[in-house]
Amino acid sequence: MKSGFVNIFGKPNAGKSTLLNALIGEKMAIVSSKVQTTRHRIKAFLTKPGEYQIIFSDTPGIIEPKYKLHERMMQSVKTALEDADVALLLADATKDFAETIEMFRQLRLKVPSILVLNKTDKLKAGKIEEIKQTAEGSSFKKIIDISALTHKNLDILLATIIELLPEGEAFYDEDELTDLPTKFFVGEMIREKVYELFSEEIPYQTAVIINEFKEKESLIKIQADIIVHRESQKAILLGEGGKMIKQLGTLSRNEIEKFLQQKIFLQLFIKVKPKWRDDDFKLKEYGY
Ligand code: GDP
Ligand code: MG
Repeated sequence: MKSGFVNIFGKPNAGKSTLLNALIGEKMAIVSSKVQTTRHRIKAFLTKPGEYQIIFSDTPGIIEPKYKLHERMMQSVKTALEDADVALLLADATKDFAETIEMFRQLRLKVPSILVLNKTDKLKAGKIEEIKQTAEGSSFKKIIDISALTHKNLDILLATIIELLPEGEAFYDEDELTDLPTKFFVGEMIREKVYELFSEEIPYQTAVIINEFKEKESLIKIQADIIVHRESQKAILLGEGGKMIKQLGTLSRNEIEKFLQQKIFLQLFIKVKPKWRDDDFKLKEYGY
């Protein structure tokens, strides 16, 4: 039996969440085309009883510590670096891969690492070979071209990971999928819909807190607060005559019901808390 921790690193938008979802086969990490969607480390387990258990972590993208929130993201990236058995360094092969590969070199990883070139469904075979050659001669144990979207070469990636994992017993029960509570995923799904419906700074300045998660006889009652910085943002989230918040509620409810396989009653409140992102106390309260 082999078991261990595998962390997925890469710039925002490289496809880390998509890859994690593809490997696990459940909607574990929210996926969005906007950057910085993933604020937490998400752990997800892939187990084949008697053969292997892989504990994957999706890490927030590597970014400048501009705000306290970002500093925390960087800290969690470092923590992730230090406790992995295998690191997956994910690069978007369709753009600035050279810069990304250089950044991976600078990380000076002590753990075995695999360079994963993603989004190769958008590239011709010749171009893929060319990029692979750019990365040759570095400390990567292996360079694998994949598509997280079309699942190309995910079997090869999985086999390579298992090869590099240490021998050991499973850390978690074989039927467990994650160490995070359901509540967390529900909050993330609402946040995903905020990303879908609103533009510019709104998604980045929004936090979602689940205040109530009660299983009743025929449904689950969920009450969530959506925290924004300013009154003007609250007005945008509400929309004319409450049009937008209603739409947000419907989209979120559908997504959560699909995930929980149960009917839910969802109540959303919008609250204004100026500068929550620079406030240590509030960051802690919101779970960052
Ligand atoms: P993250 O920020 O690294 O977690 O990136 P996401 O997983 O959220 O993906 C960012 C965007 O890239 C999304 O629009 C994905 O659908 C897209 N994407 C991810 N993997 C692939 C891939 O293999 N091929 C293509 N064409 N798009 C991808
Ligand atoms: Mg992500």
